[in-house]
Amino acid sequence: MIEVGIAMLQGARREHIISLQNAAQNLDIDVNIRQLRKSSDIDGINALILPGGESTAMKIASKNEDLLDGLWKYITDFNIPVLGTCAGAILLSQQGLISTSIVRNAFGRQKESFQSKIRIGYPQEDDFHGVFIRAPRFLKGSKNPIAWLGEEVVGVLEGKKMALTFHPELTNDYRFHEWLLNEVIE
Ligand code: GLN
Repeated sequence: MIEVGIAMLQGARREHIISLQNAAQNLDIDVNIRQLRKSSDIDGINALILPGGESTAMKIASKNEDLLDGLWKYITDFNIPVLGTCAGAILLSQQGLISTSIVRNAFGRQKESFQSKIRIGYPQEDDFHGVFIRAPRFLKGSKNPIAWLGEEVVGVLEGKKMALTFHPELTNDYRFHEWLLNEVIE
């Protein structure tokens, strides 16, 4: 039984839970999804999802129960696979858990949110439906790109940490959630 933690601070949490359930079904594996609210919830998770939403709100929501600091320590100690989408990608970058730097709200405000066909390199070269909501942008020189909007990198995979500036959990395409589960199985 694989235990996948989802940081339940704020943002698109239910959507990730549904995507993960579908990914588990596609791969025919048993997954227990653990909803993480406080640092004592973390022990024993095999993988982590950091949802999109508002990274500043997540940090404020984390203050009482110290969830984020607990997660950063756990990720560093156990090197578990992590999928961070949008605000989740921002947090990974700000923590130095991926080396690629990121700029928040870099496409503009809410009305500049958009959807677009993007290219992905995982699990093979293909198109993907990219949903960008007040999305951040990676700075140039990102290592190990795995997703592109035109020429621009919108997803990186560094070791076991995947950071995406778009929202796969708002589509019916579960390939990135399957990646997370496959990383645990391997
Ligand atoms: N703009 C948000 C932030 O700065 C990220 C947006 C998102 O997660 N969709 O945290």
